[in-house]
Amino acid sequence: MFYEERIIDGVLLCRSAPFGPWRRAITQHTDAVNELLKLTQEQRMTVFSKFCTHCGDANPRCRCWDDE
Ligand SMILES: [Zn+2]
Repeated sequence: MFYEERIIDGVLLCRSAPFGPWRRAITQHTDAVNELLKLTQEQRMTVFSKFCTHCGDANPRCRCWDDE
């Protein structure tokens, strides 16, 4: 099933057809993404530093890279 998300004009939108109309996303992460959009880039980097950017684990020093 086709599903695509994109940030347009500072809001997370989604569409379920390749050329379908964009509508507000309603996934579990929608509110978090929209809140992050209110932060500055620097503030967002601080938030992301709390997580592993590879697997998303809440431990930023996750060892998942070691498995590869
Ligand atoms: Zn990881």
